[in-house]
Amino acid sequence: MTEKTVFPTIGILGGGQLAQMLALDGYPLGFRFIFFDPTADACAGLVGDLMVADYGNEIALDEFAKKCDFVTYDFENVPVEAAEFVAKRSAIFPHPKVLEIAQDRLKEKLLFKSLDIPIAEFHSVDSYSELLFAAKSCGHDGFLKTRRLGYDGKGQHRITEKTDLKELWAEIDGGSFVLEHAVNFIREISVIVVRNVHGETQFYPLCENKHKNGILTTTLVPAKPSQVSATAYEYAQKIADTLSYVGVLVIEMFETQDGLYINEMAPRVHNSGHWSIEGAVTSQFENHLRAGMGLSIGSTQMSLGYSAMINWIGEIPKIALNTKEKGIYWHIYGKQERKGRKVGHSTVVADNAEDLHKKVVKLAELLQK
Ligand code: AMP
Repeated sequence: MTEKTVFPTIGILGGGQLAQMLALDGYPLGFRFIFFDPTADACAGLVGDLMVADYGNEIALDEFAKKCDFVTYDFENVPVEAAEFVAKRSAIFPHPKVLEIAQDRLKEKLLFKSLDIPIAEFHSVDSYSELLFAAKSCGHDGFLKTRRLGYDGKGQHRITEKTDLKELWAEIDGGSFVLEHAVNFIREISVIVVRNVHGETQFYPLCENKHKNGILTTTLVPAKPSQVSATAYEYAQKIADTLSYVGVLVIEMFETQDGLYINEMAPRVHNSGHWSIEGAVTSQFENHLRAGMGLSIGSTQMSLGYSAMINWIGEIPKIALNTKEKGIYWHIYGKQERKGRKVGHSTVVADNAEDLHKKVVKLAELLQK
């Protein structure tokens, strides 16, 4: 076993790009990192020690937990049993009970409802007859989502007049779902809130997000203020306080003509906060670590006035390593290219909206090459 030192060792369950970026922002603070992941080529392994074992392997989890002063997660689908096992041996944040809620769309929705936070109307669907009922009640305009393990639009089916429900039910082969009524939104925003163990809370400026096929493509910050901006922060504060949350929590919302609807929450650092590495005084990654370790939260202000993030999905742009422009940054995660997979992102920072726009256009041109 590694001897504990004055430099805290942080363990991360899951070894994807979020774990990688947590470590990259934690090293300058003297923190050390160990990642736990079932796959040997998990990309966080490029920047720290990777333990390769299944989440059900208690011998490996025990060894991992004993090496760590603090443990956190790279993704919300870490099995709750594994998180609870680790929690008996090491400090862990956020609490595993939060994972349990975030892993199940139905439990998550019931939490939002209990807090009087508006969400799209929904139905729980466990059988074909429930699917027929739910499809009818949303006027055949909805989204059927798996209750568990759905992300980046995976496990999600658009329901329209044209959907052959019988065929769809045969294709998805049963299971537990929720069917949400489609929300006619003006735009999608996310609130990134960070709360430390003492209950101190800070918000990043609101992010405006664009998705394609359920996957985030672009984030612009700060989102243009609107009448609902203050409400967005209020909802996020209510959720974070109710959960006695520790770390970065991200709430995705739909802004509509009649106000805000919550889509979902992510109990971790989030893709819509990647811009904060260069675009904020303190990144979401550093602040997640600071919050979990009981340190004061770093400033969440913009470093310049504006920022944008563009995801690279499936392919790393050819141009990436071959050019360097002021105010444009590349992040290559070191993952194999695969259709629909997030393999990197670029960030733009600018001190005014006009310059941001110019740089984003320039970036879009570069990414086409
Ligand atoms: P999710 O995986 O639930 O975050 O959904 C991914 C994306 O699909 C969202 O960011 C929206 O762009 C779209 N979407 C999901 N649910 C709905 C809904 N009820 N109404 C409208 N669009 C939705």
